[in-house]
Amino acid sequence: MEIIHVAAECYPVAKAGGLGDVVGALPKYQADLGHVTKVVMPMYRTKFLYNHQWELVHEGEQFLGSQSFHYAVIKEKTNTLGFDLYLVDINGLLDREKIYGYNDDTERFMAFQIAVCDWMNKWQHKPSVVHCHDHHTGLIPFMMQHCFAFRDKLARIPTVFTVHNAQYQGWMGWDKNHYIPYYDTWKTGLLEWDKNINPLASAIKCAWKVTTVSHSYLDELKQEANGLQHLFEYEKGKSYGILNGIDTQVWDPHTDSMIVKNYGSELVEKGKWKNKKELAGQFGLDPNKPLVSFIGRLVGEKAADLLPEAISQSIYQHHGNVNFLVLGSGDPNVEDRLDNMKHHFSGYYNSFIGYSEQLSHLIYAGSDFLLMPSRVEPCGLNQLYALRYGTVPMVRNVGGLRDTVTDMGDPQGFGIRFDQASVNDITYSVGRAIDLYNNKHELYHWMRSHMMEIDHSWEGSAQQYIDLYISLQ
Ligand code: ADP
Repeated sequence: MEIIHVAAECYPVAKAGGLGDVVGALPKYQADLGHVTKVVMPMYRTKFLYNHQWELVHEGEQFLGSQSFHYAVIKEKTNTLGFDLYLVDINGLLDREKIYGYNDDTERFMAFQIAVCDWMNKWQHKPSVVHCHDHHTGLIPFMMQHCFAFRDKLARIPTVFTVHNAQYQGWMGWDKNHYIPYYDTWKTGLLEWDKNINPLASAIKCAWKVTTVSHSYLDELKQEANGLQHLFEYEKGKSYGILNGIDTQVWDPHTDSMIVKNYGSELVEKGKWKNKKELAGQFGLDPNKPLVSFIGRLVGEKAADLLPEAISQSIYQHHGNVNFLVLGSGDPNVEDRLDNMKHHFSGYYNSFIGYSEQLSHLIYAGSDFLLMPSRVEPCGLNQLYALRYGTVPMVRNVGGLRDTVTDMGDPQGFGIRFDQASVNDITYSVGRAIDLYNNKHELYHWMRSHMMEIDHSWEGSAQQYIDLYISLQ
């Protein structure tokens, strides 16, 4: 099969969160299964671009409304990622350092999607499937089927759309309608949700199949999906939950070059201790106390706003017998609070406000517990990395967290689960973590080595996607 993944992120080219991890790994595992796999993404000005060799494969002209734009497609020459990587360049729109967060993101991703459709339209052959990820690529299924310029050639190519996060939908007003290449106006309804153009909704309506990144998330989206719950319910017949995997080549404590001591399930105590001492040294913490860490975007979905209060309550209520470390960026107000607390709780709590891939690896390796109190969690990769590094996940019972972590109270359970995204539930769970760390050595030891052996690699899920594509041929 020839599979075309279209996305805004792909690790290690450009990553802002889990989407990047998935698009960097799934295609590689699909290629290993014997398929021709291609990733197409915008050509941001990231380090990866300057450190690799490229060849020009296509150039074209298109319109964004009444403005014409030139685009170029380049291909990485050495297949270093294990699949064919194509970057689309559009001067003035995509030539930026960051992935998102610009005032003209609507125009940037609209032009990108038009360029991708135009390029595919010029191909002599038909790929087996076009797999789009999240709202930045959500208009592609519509464009392929209903835009006059593309539909003759592209309408019969199957499309799959994966919802990694339904909170963000790419909404735009109808004043942007003229950006979309001419289409059959009878089909206008396929673009709309709640009086706006809604790329995520359009993808759910138009893609041949829709997937979400865990089963529980699909169930939850029918109840609450930032306004799209009825649409998810309506389209449930073509929707599937396929759990994300992790790239076990990148996330492997045996070989990880970003941690100070490599280890496997047999040497988990010793290996983690060395990494913990390094972390504790860097952040002025006590390596003899249990270390609870948080890594992630500091946003409401992750319940990051609860962290300042939950951390201070836990330190007070548990008499300082626990340490906390936070790595994250996002809401400036939460960033400030988490930063300012450092001085007050010096020796008990520290944070790094920002993004650091390297530090994230060291935290997964050196922490005892990883806290994820998320309000919404489509799949969650952090808990899967934690498991692989022998770090006990402390998670709210939601989405992919529910599907991948069982509570230590269950026979064979290996994590700490709680029901509410609340300060009380977090503080109580921290108490359970301290008790496990201090008093239940055998169970703690068994849990850590057991969870490191759980297979969350991509092999199984990559095949499930292939089976889905096959059903569309
Ligand atoms: P999201 O909803 O943010 O995509 P996921 O759990 O699916 O959440 O994936 C988060 C990914 O982003 C993980 O690889 C995590 O380690 C990484 N990550 C999040 N915030 C940071 C940060 N500040 N520094 C380094 N890595 C981060």
